[in-house]
Amino acid sequence: MSKYNILIVEDEPAMLSGLKDNLEFEGYQVDTAVEGDSGLDKILNNHYHLVLLDVMLPNLSGFDILKKVRQEGIKTPIILLTAKGEEMDKVLGLEFGADDYITKPFGLRELLARIKAVLRRTTVSNSEKTDAHITSIGNLKVNFSNYEAFINEEQVKLSFKEFEILNYLWNKRNHIVSRDDILNDIWGDDYQPTSRTIDNFILKLRSKIENDPNRAKIILTVHGVGYKLIH
Ligand code: CA
Repeated sequence: MSKYNILIVEDEPAMLSGLKDNLEFEGYQVDTAVEGDSGLDKILNNHYHLVLLDVMLPNLSGFDILKKVRQEGIKTPIILLTAKGEEMDKVLGLEFGADDYITKPFGLRELLARIKAVLRRTTVSNSEKTDAHITSIGNLKVNFSNYEAFINEEQVKLSFKEFEILNYLWNKRNHIVSRDDILNDIWGDDYQPTSRTIDNFILKLRSKIENDPNRAKIILTVHGVGYKLIH
């Protein structure tokens, strides 16, 4: 059982370090961000079991982050940290897809209880689908429902998009998938990276999951066409 990973996005230094210390003391693994854009970046590129998200942040508000994250289809549980008197914020926050909110100033015990409740809710719904859902791809054991991957019991850190691409290739295993297929089905109409970006994602994926990334055995290149996951 891996430790829970929590990201705290909070710009007040005292608040941030207090939360971090307390959560680490409770056994959580904690990552932090103090600005809106770096917080968003971390959520988009890592897997967390939970995010504590302050609403008032420099350069990107907690709401903007929340909206963007949900638009990207990322379901990471998020608890909003709202300031006293921001009643509207709570309603809006829940509408935008927050899992819970807590009003500052709050007691540590209350926060821990909320965190546990949200984790319980989300892990139960995950574990209903899980165990049977461990997929073996080469040496890699991957659980697509909770975004975890392991090689020889060691966790492999894949970004959200890397998981999505791997999942996509897995679902079409032993078939050739073109770069355009990946672009259209994973990025959709919102934002279209170039096919060069896809190649870079594949290179990164290979470096993490292939024994020898230069002699790929899992994700093969089909020259002039695209890629094929072999199973
Ligand atoms: Ca703040």
